[in-house]
Amino acid sequence: MTKPLTCPTCAKVHVPALGHRLGPFCTPRCQLVDLGRWLSEDYRVPDSGPPPDPGDGSEPQEPR
Ligand SMILES: [Zn+2]
Repeated sequence: MTKPLTCPTCAKVHVPALGHRLGPFCTPRCQLVDLGRWLSEDYRVPDSGPPPDPGDGSEPQEPR
């Protein structure tokens, strides 16, 4: 017998199927969302480095 679980992401109560490998999550998407949250908290980016320069400034783009 499987116990119904509450998905931490969407708070949906679901019964994990046999071979369910998503932990407490109801769908892979919910698992990804939670993982993403966790990662973004862990790897907190203080400052995104120097702003990307569009083009090298060597030559202006002109249609030929
Ligand atoms: Zn969910």
